[in-house]
Amino acid sequence: MSGYRTLDDLDVQGKRVLVRVDFNVPMKDGQVTDDTRIQRALPTIRELSKKGAKVILLSHFGRPKGEPKPEFSLKPVAKALGDLLGGPVEFAEDCVGEPAKKTADRLIDGDVAVFENTRFHSGEEKNDPDFVKALAANGDLYVNDAFSAAHRAHASTEGLAHVLPAAAGRAMEAELDYLTAALSNPVRPLVAVVGGAKISTKIDLLKNLVGKADALVIGGAMANTFLSARGVCVGASLSEPDLAATAREIEQAAARGGCALILPSDVVVADALRAGAESEVVSVENVPSDRMILDLGPDTVDAIAAEIEAAKTLVWNGPLGAFETPPFDTATVESARFAARRVKEAGLVAVAGGGDTVAALNHAGVADDFTYVSTAGGAFLEWLEGKELPGVKALEK
Ligand code: ADP
Ligand code: MG
Repeated sequence: MSGYRTLDDLDVQGKRVLVRVDFNVPMKDGQVTDDTRIQRALPTIRELSKKGAKVILLSHFGRPKGEPKPEFSLKPVAKALGDLLGGPVEFAEDCVGEPAKKTADRLIDGDVAVFENTRFHSGEEKNDPDFVKALAANGDLYVNDAFSAAHRAHASTEGLAHVLPAAAGRAMEAELDYLTAALSNPVRPLVAVVGGAKISTKIDLLKNLVGKADALVIGGAMANTFLSARGVCVGASLSEPDLAATAREIEQAAARGGCALILPSDVVVADALRAGAESEVVSVENVPSDRMILDLGPDTVDAIAAEIEAAKTLVWNGPLGAFETPPFDTATVESARFAARRVKEAGLVAVAGGGDTVAALNHAGVADDFTYVSTAGGAFLEWLEGKELPGVKALEK
């Protein structure tokens, strides 16, 4: 990737800085129930405020579909932000027009304001030039700190970068640095671990990774599709027989590109996905026709550990088994803990992401021990697919 500006390249003193953050936080009864995303924006907000900027925060929240809907107001988020910052946070009832201008005009250097949900206007998702102009009217500079929204070319995630001097915020910068270190410019060997339920949602991702990684480990139910494409009986397991050709294509691409493909050699089977269900380990050639594969077996876990041990860089997306239902969390937990240990003891660079992957790493108690865990969801997956993210592209110098 070519370079992009950061906060180091902007002179923000006395300037109105429009900062795109991701305040799309979980909320219940008007209360923020998980402030992780607000926390991630704090370094950028604090730094700008300290440098004397007038900090104006823009975000979407939920899907109000282009019109104001009170249940999608960012007002409770502004309050939660104030609590975290330990100081006042202004709130504007609209992100454009009079309310926005009045609030912006009132700010003094170092002040922080939250503008109402950008998606209260249809111009946001349409990236409408007039709406971009209306947003830009209250800013001198634009900072994008919302990697998780960077796969969308919306007015506040992309459009603004073309009309105001633009830079990446600190959270965006960290995400780009780690993702680049993991995939665009990795220290080799690079091992990719991909699991999860279905290959249908991850075809592009697998195709991109086989072209980049030295080894690709396939786990989770998606491994069943690869196994059955090889003619192995996967019994009553979750699999996608109609994607057999795709699985074979990916195998061939791996072979052509010199990427070692690691599929399960043994698995844990049970008659149902139920907590504490009676389970047994069988080799993949011996899956009974009435059983389902719910986790990887110990030999496979050893093989994965050997790959991770040999690796200098690890990229991980997708749980290796039905980890939400013990004992089928074993392979995921053991492999995650092994990777975390290699980060600590051997300097492995381990980057992971994906909604269920983050939950799985938390379940294993190692989310903080990985080098970087992306909470960006869709944007992280699109990046693993090798796609150019419009919000990132617009920041390039
Ligand atoms: P992510 O959100 O991290 O990208 P996915 O959504 O692709 O991950 O997949 C996660 C889901 O895959 C989990 O809910 C997990 O239970 C399921 N899964 C993994 N292995 C199996 C399996 N062998 N059988 C059934 N479900 C599985
Ligand atoms: Mg998921």
